Amino acid sequence: MFNNDNGAPRQMVQGNWTCSDCGKEITELPFQPSGDRPVHCKECWAKKRSEGRSNFQNRAPRQMVQGNWACSECGKEITELPFEPKGDRPVLCKDCWRAKRPARF
Ligand SMILES: [Zn+2]
Ligand SMILES: [Zn+2]
Repeated sequence: MFNNDNGAPRQMVQGNWTCSDCGKEITELPFQPSGDRPVHCKECWAKKRSEGRSNFQNRAPRQMVQGNWACSECGKEITELPFEPKGDRPVLCKDCWRAKRPARF
């Protein structure tokens, strides 16, 4: 029978590697690294994981375009937009944009 790791602590592999990110010495890993794969220390590994997760959850903030427009609905001044508006397209302020959108998000 295979020993599936049902919450049991993983067998650590002892050795001597160098973190490919920060160059720190690594003396144990939770897996046997294959020769051509980069190896990361615990800190870099955790950093990479948390970065990946946060990117996945709240995506990268959109680049805002700074400028000076008037809302085509209410005439309010708009100083930034999440996109570069085309000359012939009406520009809406956040409130009007939200109002025009279908309520169910
Ligand atoms: Zn590292
Ligand atoms: Zn408006």
